[in-house]
Amino acid sequence: MQFGSQAVQAWLLAALSAVEPRAGELDELDRAVGDGDHGSNLLRGLRAATDIEFDDSLPAAEALKQVGMALVSTVGGASGPLFGTFFLRLGQSWQSPPSVISLAQSMRIGLDGVVARGRAEVGDATMVDALEPAVTALEQSAAHGAPLTDALALATQAAEVGAEATRDMVAKRGRASYLGEASRGHLDPGAVSSAMLVRALEETLSGDAE
Ligand code: ADP
Ligand code: MG
Repeated sequence: MQFGSQAVQAWLLAALSAVEPRAGELDELDRAVGDGDHGSNLLRGLRAATDIEFDDSLPAAEALKQVGMALVSTVGGASGPLFGTFFLRLGQSWQSPPSVISLAQSMRIGLDGVVARGRAEVGDATMVDALEPAVTALEQSAAHGAPLTDALALATQAAEVGAEATRDMVAKRGRASYLGEASRGHLDPGAVSSAMLVRALEETLSGDAE
Protein backbone atom coordinates (compact mmCIF):
# COMPACT_ATOMS: atom_id res chain seq x y z
CA MET A 1 0.00 0.00 0.00
CA GLN A 2 0.96 3.60 -0.56
CA PHE A 3 2.54 4.93 2.62
CA GLY A 4 1.18 8.44 2.88
CA SER A 5 -1.02 10.53 5.10
CA GLN A 6 -3.46 7.60 5.50
CA ALA A 7 -0.85 5.69 7.49
CA VAL A 8 -0.34 8.68 9.78
CA GLN A 9 -4.08 8.95 10.20
CA ALA A 10 -4.23 5.23 11.01
CA TRP A 11 -1.53 5.65 13.67
CA LEU A 12 -3.41 8.51 15.30
CA LEU A 13 -6.70 6.62 15.21
CA ALA A 14 -5.01 3.63 16.84
CA ALA A 15 -3.55 5.97 19.47
CA LEU A 16 -6.94 7.59 20.05
CA SER A 17 -8.61 4.17 20.49
CA ALA A 18 -5.96 3.24 23.02
CA VAL A 19 -5.99 6.52 24.95
CA GLU A 20 -9.74 7.19 24.94
CA PRO A 21 -10.72 4.38 27.34
CA ARG A 22 -7.66 5.04 29.52
CA ALA A 23 -7.69 8.85 29.68
CA GLY A 24 -9.21 8.73 33.18
CA GLU A 25 -6.47 6.36 34.29
CA LEU A 26 -3.80 8.71 32.87
CA ASP A 27 -5.45 11.65 34.66
CA GLU A 28 -5.38 9.57 37.83
CA LEU A 29 -1.65 8.86 37.44
CA ASP A 30 -1.10 12.59 36.90
CA ARG A 31 -3.22 13.39 39.97
CA ALA A 32 -0.73 11.46 42.10
CA VAL A 33 2.32 13.39 40.88
CA GLY A 34 0.99 16.46 39.07
CA ASP A 35 -2.26 18.23 38.31
CA GLY A 36 -4.41 15.38 37.06
CA ASP A 37 -4.84 16.45 33.45
CA HIS A 38 -2.46 14.35 31.37
CA GLY A 39 -5.05 11.95 29.94
CA SER A 40 -7.48 14.78 29.19
CA ASN A 41 -4.70 16.81 27.58
CA LEU A 42 -3.57 14.02 25.33
CA LEU A 43 -7.10 12.99 24.45
CA ARG A 44 -7.89 16.56 23.36
CA GLY A 45 -4.73 16.58 21.23
CA LEU A 46 -5.42 13.23 19.61
CA ARG A 47 -8.99 14.25 18.82
CA ALA A 48 -7.71 17.42 17.15
CA ALA A 49 -5.06 15.47 15.26
CA THR A 50 -7.50 12.81 14.05
CA ASP A 51 -9.88 15.57 12.93
CA ILE A 52 -7.34 16.88 10.44
CA GLU A 53 -8.54 16.10 6.93
CA PHE A 54 -5.40 15.17 5.09
CA ASP A 55 -5.27 15.26 1.35
CA ASP A 56 -4.84 11.65 0.17
CA SER A 57 -1.79 12.65 -1.85
CA LEU A 58 -0.11 14.35 1.13
CA PRO A 59 3.18 12.61 2.02
CA ALA A 60 3.35 11.03 5.48
CA ALA A 61 6.17 13.40 6.43
CA GLU A 62 3.97 16.44 5.80
CA ALA A 63 1.06 14.86 7.68
CA LEU A 64 3.33 14.22 10.67
CA LYS A 65 4.31 17.90 10.72
CA GLN A 66 0.65 18.95 10.71
CA VAL A 67 0.01 16.52 13.57
CA GLY A 68 2.92 18.05 15.48
CA MET A 69 1.47 21.53 15.08
CA ALA A 70 -1.99 20.34 16.12
CA LEU A 71 -0.56 18.71 19.24
CA VAL A 72 1.45 21.80 20.19
CA SER A 73 -1.65 23.96 19.99
CA THR A 74 -4.17 21.62 21.63
CA VAL A 75 -2.52 19.34 24.21
CA GLY A 76 -1.22 22.17 26.36
CA GLY A 77 0.72 21.62 29.58
CA ALA A 78 4.31 20.51 29.52
CA SER A 79 3.57 17.51 27.35
CA GLY A 80 1.98 19.42 24.43
CA PRO A 81 5.17 21.07 23.18
CA LEU A 82 7.08 17.84 23.82
CA PHE A 83 4.72 15.56 21.90
CA GLY A 84 4.40 18.30 19.29
CA THR A 85 8.16 18.52 18.86
CA PHE A 86 8.39 14.75 18.61
CA PHE A 87 5.92 14.62 15.71
CA LEU A 88 7.36 17.72 14.00
CA ARG A 89 10.80 16.14 14.06
CA LEU A 90 9.42 12.83 12.83
CA GLY A 91 7.92 14.77 9.95
CA GLN A 92 11.24 16.42 9.16
CA SER A 93 13.01 13.08 8.86
CA TRP A 94 10.35 10.50 7.93
CA GLN A 95 10.89 8.29 4.91
CA SER A 96 8.10 6.47 3.15
CA PRO A 97 7.70 3.61 3.23
CA PRO A 98 9.61 3.34 6.50
CA SER A 99 12.33 0.73 6.93
CA VAL A 100 13.64 -0.33 10.33
CA ILE A 101 16.68 1.84 9.65
CA SER A 102 14.75 4.95 8.61
CA LEU A 103 12.27 4.49 11.43
CA ALA A 104 15.06 4.16 14.00
CA GLN A 105 16.73 7.31 12.63
CA SER A 106 13.53 9.29 12.53
CA MET A 107 12.44 8.25 16.02
CA ARG A 108 15.92 9.16 17.33
CA ILE A 109 15.58 12.61 15.76
CA GLY A 110 12.13 12.98 17.34
CA LEU A 111 13.43 11.95 20.74
CA ASP A 112 16.42 14.29 20.43
CA GLY A 113 13.90 17.09 19.94
CA VAL A 114 12.07 16.11 23.13
CA VAL A 115 15.33 16.03 25.06
CA ALA A 116 16.53 19.35 23.62
CA ARG A 117 13.28 20.97 24.73
CA GLY A 118 12.67 19.28 28.07
CA ARG A 119 16.25 18.45 29.07
CA ALA A 120 15.14 15.21 30.73
CA GLU A 121 17.55 12.33 30.93
CA VAL A 122 16.79 8.65 31.25
CA GLY A 123 15.95 8.03 34.90
CA ASP A 124 14.21 11.38 35.46
CA ALA A 125 10.74 9.74 35.33
CA THR A 126 9.37 11.34 32.17
CA MET A 127 8.21 10.29 28.72
CA VAL A 128 11.91 9.95 27.84
CA ASP A 129 12.00 6.79 29.97
CA ALA A 130 9.57 5.12 27.56
CA LEU A 131 10.81 6.67 24.32
CA GLU A 132 14.55 6.17 24.79
CA PRO A 133 14.35 2.36 25.23
CA ALA A 134 11.97 2.14 22.27
CA VAL A 135 14.37 4.06 20.04
CA THR A 136 17.35 2.05 21.27
CA ALA A 137 15.45 -1.17 20.54
CA LEU A 138 14.76 0.07 17.00
CA GLU A 139 18.43 0.93 16.53
CA GLN A 140 19.45 -2.53 17.70
CA SER A 141 16.92 -4.13 15.36
CA ALA A 142 18.24 -1.98 12.52
CA ALA A 143 21.79 -3.14 13.28
CA HIS A 144 20.68 -6.79 13.26
CA GLY A 145 18.60 -6.49 10.13
CA ALA A 146 15.43 -7.50 11.97
CA PRO A 147 12.13 -7.33 10.07
CA LEU A 148 9.95 -4.28 10.71
CA THR A 149 7.25 -6.28 12.50
CA ASP A 150 9.75 -7.76 14.97
CA ALA A 151 11.49 -4.42 15.44
CA LEU A 152 8.22 -2.72 16.31
CA ALA A 153 7.17 -5.47 18.72
CA LEU A 154 10.51 -5.13 20.54
CA ALA A 155 10.18 -1.34 20.57
CA THR A 156 6.74 -1.58 22.18
CA GLN A 157 8.01 -4.02 24.77
CA ALA A 158 10.96 -1.75 25.56
CA ALA A 159 8.70 1.31 25.88
CA GLU A 160 6.35 -0.53 28.24
CA VAL A 161 9.17 -1.85 30.41
CA GLY A 162 10.65 1.67 30.44
CA ALA A 163 7.34 3.22 31.47
CA GLU A 164 6.93 0.66 34.24
CA ALA A 165 10.43 1.48 35.51
CA THR A 166 9.41 5.09 36.24
CA ARG A 167 7.57 3.76 39.30
CA ASP A 168 10.87 3.36 41.14
CA MET A 169 12.28 6.72 40.06
CA VAL A 170 12.34 10.12 41.70
CA ALA A 171 10.98 12.65 39.19
CA LYS A 172 13.52 15.25 38.13
CA ARG A 173 11.55 17.15 35.47
CA GLY A 174 8.09 18.61 35.13
CA ARG A 175 5.51 19.09 37.87
CA ALA A 176 6.22 15.70 39.43
CA SER A 177 9.71 16.93 40.32
CA TYR A 178 8.16 19.36 42.86
CA LEU A 179 7.32 16.29 44.94
CA GLY A 180 10.93 15.19 45.18
CA GLU A 181 11.32 11.85 46.98
CA ALA A 182 7.52 11.58 47.30
CA SER A 183 7.24 11.04 43.54
CA ARG A 184 8.82 7.62 43.98
CA GLY A 185 6.30 4.79 43.86
CA HIS A 186 4.23 6.39 41.09
CA LEU A 187 4.20 5.70 37.37
CA ASP A 188 4.92 8.73 35.21
CA PRO A 189 1.78 9.46 33.17
CA GLY A 190 3.70 10.73 30.13
CA ALA A 191 5.84 7.60 30.05
CA VAL A 192 2.73 5.42 30.15
CA SER A 193 1.02 7.41 27.38
CA SER A 194 4.19 7.46 25.26
CA ALA A 195 4.35 3.67 25.43
CA MET A 196 0.73 3.65 24.22
CA LEU A 197 1.76 5.77 21.22
CA VAL A 198 4.57 3.34 20.40
CA ARG A 199 2.17 0.38 20.65
CA ALA A 200 -0.26 2.18 18.34
CA LEU A 201 2.55 2.68 15.83
CA GLU A 202 3.37 -1.00 16.04
CA GLU A 203 -0.25 -1.97 15.42
CA THR A 204 -0.40 0.36 12.44
CA LEU A 205 2.89 -0.45 10.72
CA SER A 206 2.80 -4.17 11.50
CA GLY A 207 -0.59 -4.31 9.88
CA ASP A 208 0.94 -2.64 6.82
CA ALA A 209 3.91 -4.96 6.74
CA GLU A 210 1.80 -8.10 6.26
P1 ADP B 1 1.58 19.27 32.85
O1 ADP B 1 2.65 18.62 33.69
O2 ADP B 1 1.96 20.63 32.42
O3 ADP B 1 0.23 19.22 33.51
P2 ADP B 1 0.87 16.97 31.31
O4 ADP B 1 0.18 16.53 32.54
O5 ADP B 1 0.07 16.91 30.05
O6 ADP B 1 1.48 18.42 31.50
O7 ADP B 1 2.14 16.06 31.05
C1 ADP B 1 2.94 15.60 32.08
C2 ADP B 1 3.98 14.67 31.49
O8 ADP B 1 4.89 15.41 30.66
C3 ADP B 1 4.86 14.00 32.52
O9 ADP B 1 4.26 12.82 32.96
C4 ADP B 1 6.16 13.75 31.79
O10 ADP B 1 6.17 12.50 31.14
C5 ADP B 1 6.16 14.81 30.72
N1 ADP B 1 7.13 15.86 31.00
C6 ADP B 1 6.98 16.95 31.79
N2 ADP B 1 8.10 17.69 31.79
C7 ADP B 1 8.99 17.03 30.98
C8 ADP B 1 10.33 17.28 30.54
N3 ADP B 1 11.01 18.37 30.95
N4 ADP B 1 10.90 16.40 29.70
C9 ADP B 1 10.23 15.30 29.29
N5 ADP B 1 8.97 15.03 29.65
C10 ADP B 1 8.37 15.87 30.48
MG1 MG C 1 -0.59 17.47 34.14
